[in-house]
Amino acid sequence: MSARPQPRPGIMQIEAYVPGKSAAVGVAKIHKLSSNETPLGPSPKAIAALKAADHFELYPDGSATKLREAIAAKYGLDPQRLICGSGSDELLSLITNTYMGPGDEGLYSEHGFLVYRIAILAAGGTPVIAPEKDYRTDVDALLARVTDKTKIVYLANPNNPTGTYIPFDEVKRLHAGLPSHTILVLDAAYAEYVRRNDYEAGLELVATHDNVVMTRTFSKIHGLANLRLGWMVGPAPIIDAVNRIRGPFNVNGPAMAAGIAAIGDDAHVASAIAHNEQWLDWLTKEIGALGLKTTPSVGNFMLIHFPKEPGRTARDADAFLSSRGLILRRIDGYGLPDALRLTVGTEEANRLLVETLRAFLGRDHA
Ligand SMILES: *Cc1c(COP(=O)(O)O)cnc(C)c1O
Repeated sequence: MSARPQPRPGIMQIEAYVPGKSAAVGVAKIHKLSSNETPLGPSPKAIAALKAADHFELYPDGSATKLREAIAAKYGLDPQRLICGSGSDELLSLITNTYMGPGDEGLYSEHGFLVYRIAILAAGGTPVIAPEKDYRTDVDALLARVTDKTKIVYLANPNNPTGTYIPFDEVKRLHAGLPSHTILVLDAAYAEYVRRNDYEAGLELVATHDNVVMTRTFSKIHGLANLRLGWMVGPAPIIDAVNRIRGPFNVNGPAMAAGIAAIGDDAHVASAIAHNEQWLDWLTKEIGALGLKTTPSVGNFMLIHFPKEPGRTARDADAFLSSRGLILRRIDGYGLPDALRLTVGTEEANRLLVETLRAFLGRDHA
């Protein structure tokens, strides 16, 4: 008997990432509230830039020079310390593959973003998970699990799917407790949405240390998820190392053009922030008034917790909502089978969601 090809150890432990559903059968109108996409769509300037893109026969600028310059100008950064990726997911894999191998550990929080686990296992590393308190990152629990083998600590702040955050003081305390050879990855995919005085994405920490990087994305507030665009800022030696394994043309030209336009459109970002602030607050109150528990969120999404009572579970709610065109995210993969994750939608979608939840809870399910 001949042996068939075998994947490297760790690969078959990966549960492939399941994206949010986008369709329901036989419903006139679908409201996709499952992937933290913006209900406002991208900046009209980004759409115009994409449409104006030309010369598809030519390879793009492999070093994303203009996009890096636009990001650097916006945030007061050195373009040399930036690297762009096909979504920040690619950058999370690249940094993991650059620094982690078999025998190494990657550390993250209990309900941390699932892409970390995938990246760690794909690199042959071992995922190490720290428990949370009230769905929130617990810095002491993370620090207690740091070993000589910890190569990377991943912190989504705010975290997806919980929507919770830790104050910047806590982020600094986490960093201060790490050995200098361990990289702290600050995943700030939702930073723009946060309205809290004690929150900072952490660019200051990146600028002043040799072992901190931050990933950002155009997929969320900028509304360009389909174009796959993200960036990472970090110390020169880390950016240099990651660039060595990056695909030479990992970001395409039309996406870069749209990204440059998007990052320059402050008015569009401001509208997205205002819309989210209003409707996150409204949804939290209205859903709470229905008697369902929610986890307080600072992102553009929130967890809704359901009882275990047959007929009223998260699974039942998901079926009821889906059949009426409201697509939320089940998060069993995060160990949260009793909750659904809801993305803030348009006014129409938000109002319909609350009315439909009311009907779900009020129906006779005996
Ligand atoms: C959505 C999200 C990202 C961004 O992914 P992209 O690959 O940039 O689309 C990164 N981290 C977290 C926590 C997210 O929720």
